[in-house]
Amino acid sequence: MTARYYFHGDEVGDRTGQYYCAYCDSFVDEKHFSEVSHSGTDKERYDRSVKGWTVLKKNSQGGLHRPNDAHNLFSSIPKPKKPKTGPFSRWLMKQQDRDDPIGDLSKDVQRDKGFPLESSSLEILRNRLIGQFACNEAIQALEEAYEEFKSNNTVRSGLSLALRFDVFRRDDYRCQICGTTASEGARLEVDHKIPVAKGGSDEMSNIWTLCFNCNRGKGTKNL
Ligand SMILES: [Zn+2]
Ligand SMILES: [Zn+2]
Repeated sequence: MTARYYFHGDEVGDRTGQYYCAYCDSFVDEKHFSEVSHSGTDKERYDRSVKGWTVLKKNSQGGLHRPNDAHNLFSSIPKPKKPKTGPFSRWLMKQQDRDDPIGDLSKDVQRDKGFPLESSSLEILRNRLIGQFACNEAIQALEEAYEEFKSNNTVRSGLSLALRFDVFRRDDYRCQICGTTASEGARLEVDHKIPVAKGGSDEMSNIWTLCFNCNRGKGTKNL
């Protein structure tokens, strides 16, 4: 007489609609698996059953059996797919050794399991950071990283990234006209108070932080 061996999720042959739960070591309804929270996932437990069975079958010398076509709830669940990584995220991941806010952002993003790696939409990526209560610096770093990725150029508006972040930090990541911050959704830029064309310098004192709208004269001071 051989004993039937059950995998986690195996249907019990003579009991319609009954399945074996290896976590509870009992026969249960199908809904049990969605209602009771076990210490691991059903697929993990099933996979362990499969591994254990190979060993057990050998050791039991025919004392255990399990039909090859046994119906199981979890045998055909595919492994969760890794999200595809878009070109911008791939680029950003490679910036982790940089000693600047983009390097810090790269490390943050790799720790954020829910970061939408597949997306190349600046709006979506920004909203993720804002939703995670990222600091202004990280949000602005995303903006700068995106620009750098697109233009393949670390120098934007003729000013180095380090100088731009010195200006942003001094101005507290706030538009100096309307007052909105990066975490409130402002796309910040640095601007020469006296344009270079009119003899303005690249000194910190001649550069300030403006949002995209104010920089193009579309902002309103009295919002
Ligand atoms: Zn159970
Ligand atoms: Zn503004």
